[in-house]
Formats: sequence, C-alpha cells, structure tokens
Amino acid sequence: MDLRGIPTVIPNQIGGLAAPAAAGGTFAKVAPATGAVICQVARSTRVDIEQAVARARDAQPAWAATTVVRRGEILRKIAILLQEHRAEIAALVALETGKSLKDALGETDAAIEMGFFVAGEGRRFYGRTTTSATPNKTALVMRQPLGVAGLIIAANTPIANVAWKAFPALLCGNAAVLKASEDTPLSAWAFGELAREAGVPEGVYSTVHGFGEEAGAPLVEHPDVAVVSFTGSCGVGRWIAETAGKRLAKICLELGGKNPLIVCDDADLANAVTWTIGSAFSNAGQRCAAGSRILVFDAVYDQFKALLLEAVGALKVGSTDTDDYGPVINEEQMTNMLASVARAQAAGATVLAGGARLTDAGRAGGFYVAPTIIEGAGAAAEISQSELFGPITCLYRVRDFEDAIRLANDSSFGLTASIHTQNIHRAMTFIGRIEAGVAVVNGGTYGSEPHMPFGGLKQSGNGWREAGTEALDVYSDCKTIYINHNPGRV
Ligand code: NAD
Repeated sequence: MDLRGIPTVIPNQIGGLAAPAAAGGTFAKVAPATGAVICQVARSTRVDIEQAVARARDAQPAWAATTVVRRGEILRKIAILLQEHRAEIAALVALETGKSLKDALGETDAAIEMGFFVAGEGRRFYGRTTTSATPNKTALVMRQPLGVAGLIIAANTPIANVAWKAFPALLCGNAAVLKASEDTPLSAWAFGELAREAGVPEGVYSTVHGFGEEAGAPLVEHPDVAVVSFTGSCGVGRWIAETAGKRLAKICLELGGKNPLIVCDDADLANAVTWTIGSAFSNAGQRCAAGSRILVFDAVYDQFKALLLEAVGALKVGSTDTDDYGPVINEEQMTNMLASVARAQAAGATVLAGGARLTDAGRAGGFYVAPTIIEGAGAAAEISQSELFGPITCLYRVRDFEDAIRLANDSSFGLTASIHTQNIHRAMTFIGRIEAGVAVVNGGTYGSEPHMPFGGLKQSGNGWREAGTEALDVYSDCKTIYINHNPGRV
C-alpha cells in the first residue's frame, strides 16, 4: 500500500471499493498552510450514504459472528499498518491540517496506541457473572453489538478522531460508516485503505466524504443506523440528538468546551505559564479541551500576566517543526474567531496580544492567527461563554479559591479543567467541586490517554465517554442471560 500518491479525487470507500460520489459531485480541499488546493474530494449525498449503510447492514451479522478475539486481531493489524505507514499518514495529516510534521507524528502515534489498546480489549471483553435468588440459576451479563454505527468526526486531530471511533465500534461487532470531516479527507481515506488491507471484510467499514448537511445528515436520519457517534460542535450535536432521538437510536455526543485553568497564589508560576501556553495554543487552540479561560488569583495576577505575555511573545506560528503551532483549519473559522475577538473588544475587553491574522512572508495565503490573549471580558460576555476553537484565551482576575471555583463552573460547558496549586486541600476540593469530565492538578487542560475515559458534563456531551474501556459501552449493549439447570438430571 502506497499512501504517498494522493488521488486527484479522494473517493468514497464503500463495500471495499473506491468510488466517486454517485451524483458525480466533488469539492476542493484547500491546504490551511497556504490556501492552495490540494485535491478534489467526493461530494457525497444521501444515495452514497444509503449504499454504504446497506452494505454495512448486510456485512454486519457475519462480522458479529466472528469471535471478538479475531476482530481484535484484525484491528491490531490495522494498528500495525498504521505504524508501518506512520510517516506517510503523518505527512497527510500535516498537509490537510497545516500542523507541523512533528505534531502530526504525535497525533498518528496516539491513533496507533488507540488501535493497540482496543485490539487488546478483544481478549478482555468482560461481562459479569453474578448471583440469582433462585437455586441452580446462573446469571450473566454479556456485551452484544448494536448493528450499524454512523461515525461523524471533526477535523482537529483527524487520524486520532477516526481511531477513537472506528476501533471500538468495530471491536464490538458493529459495521461502521464513517463520515469524514470535509476539512480532513486524506487521513480518513488512508485509514480506509489500511483497514481493507488488514482484512476488515467488505462492507464492514466504509468511509464517505462530503458536507454535513448533504452527507452527515442522511447518516443521522437513516433508520438502519443503530448508533450515531458524533464529535463536533454543540449546535450540530443538538440537532443530531433531536433527529436520531426521534427514532430512539443510541447517540454519543462529544462536543465543545470552554475549559478553565486556575492559577492559585501558591502555584509554581513558571509551570503554570508552561501549561497555560500548551493548553491555549497547542494545535492552534483547536482542541475541545483547550484552556480558553485562565483564572488567576489577584495576588499573583500581575506577575503571572507578565510571565505569560513574555512566553506568548516567544511563540512561533507556522507549519514547520520549529514552530509552536500552525494555521486554523479553514478561512471561515478564522474569520469567525477574529470577528468574535473584535466584538469582545467593542464590548470593553482588552486584547493584550494578537487578535489578528498573520499574513507576512511565509504565511501569506495561510489561515494563521496570532496567539491572542484577552483581558477584562465579563463572565457573561460572549467571548467568555462561547467556544472559539482557535489560539485565543481570556485572562480573569479572581479574589480567592471560592471565586475561582464559582467562575470556573459558570459555563454551559464542562469538559476539562485544571488547577495550579501546591496545596493538597485546594487540589482535592477542586477535584470534588469542579464540573468537568476531566480534572487535572498542576498540568494542562488536556484530553485523555487511550485507556482513560474522555468526555464532559453539561453541554460538552450527553454522558457517554470515548476512549478507555468505557468506549465499549457506546458501541455495545448488554444482554442479561439466565441459565437454569437441574442437578437431579445429571
Ligand atoms: P462541526 O459540528 O461543524 O462539524 C463536525 C462534523 O459534523 C463534520 O464532519 C461535519 O461535516 C458534520 N456535520 C455538520 N453538520 C451536520 C449535520 N447537520 N448532520 C450531520 N453531520 C454534520 O464541528 P467542527 O467545527 O468541525 O469541529 C469543532 C467542534 O468539535 C468544536 O466544538 C470542538 O470542541 C468539537 N470537538 C469535540 C471533541 C470532544 O471529544 N468533545 C473533540 C474534538 C472536537
């Protein structure tokens, strides 16, 4: 398998075959680093989704009848192939996102790790044995597949996003149809190629490209899709919950965040600055877990602010391995986030750094946004409440621990949160009271490792967790089993 030659038109991969969109449509994929067109992509519509779901429905029973250990072996083979093609995959990720090769390699490694973790779950596919009130009655709980899984992903960490959903969906015995993000078709195509090479049977895993309303919505609406697993924005998530909810499909939503990072008066300020920079700016702030609200105790606010601005001044924006972060994914997102900064300014907030597109030599044409720090936004202001998904963070002055917790929880989101303190009592109280799916002490607002559950409270999701063994709960249902026997008939 040679993934270096990118097709001029990225095809759908349905039932093991590469195919153009049935209606013949295509759209241009633009490189965020330069604004240049990379390739065309199949612009799928309902008819492509119907084909993929039909193939999935036909192929799923035989896949479910394959032992879960065998399914795990095939998934391990995909992970091995990802490892063998690590450099090519990372090059595709770097090209389609504009991030550095170094960051793309890190992301590819995360996808590989997820593959190995989930493959191993094939030999630990634990259910439960328990007791019954009735003698000679054995009570068990086993996992069973759901059928066809519809997977819809965002563009921010594209190969990891595919891995987070495809591996657990397939391990559990489902067939899956993945609707790739329109901004990142290349790595999803590469994953599809490797899944086929690894021996995933035809129809069990399909990749469909296209826009949300044209190709994503028909997958959500399809009556044969038993579980819809979505990573993306709240607005789309809400529509999916309503639409698939009407037919009582299972729905896993991994949505946005407005993640607080608290810096207490006893924090190691150098460490807090390092993690604030990483939380706010890595991957150009395009992380659901990005640290977008930095809450600093009054006593150290000025000192922390000076250190942070110094560190921000040293950040390098560009797409090479010596840069700290690259462009945002498309022009529209860039325009929207900069408009949001301008509105915050008009409402009285101060832009301490950044706030503009970078268009100087080497960055002209790309969608680069300067690292942006905003101060003086009110807690209820739009910029304090809505997710920007870019390299933009807000500083808030807080009186004390109580004030910090109150402000941290004053958000419709509840994904991740971090506190910087040397005080175990503060740290433990924070862990208890913060409204978040992930709580971190003396680190960044970061996602989870493959073996740890990830997801959020409130508007950040609908209660399911991805990654970890918990991901298997999204893609399987339990079956309660009773076996009666009669010792008198031995
Ligand atoms: P988005 O919601 O616009 O798009 C995400 C995906 O949904 C894309 O594939 C898109 O084509 C598809 N889509 C759009 N409209 C659709 C519709 N009507 N029906 C079906 N599919 C549709 O989000 P985005 O801007 O691409 O991604 C950024 C968002 O993703 C942020 O809110 C971010 O926080 C979130 N995110 C969450 C996590 C998490 O694990 N919680 C991880 C990464 C990103």
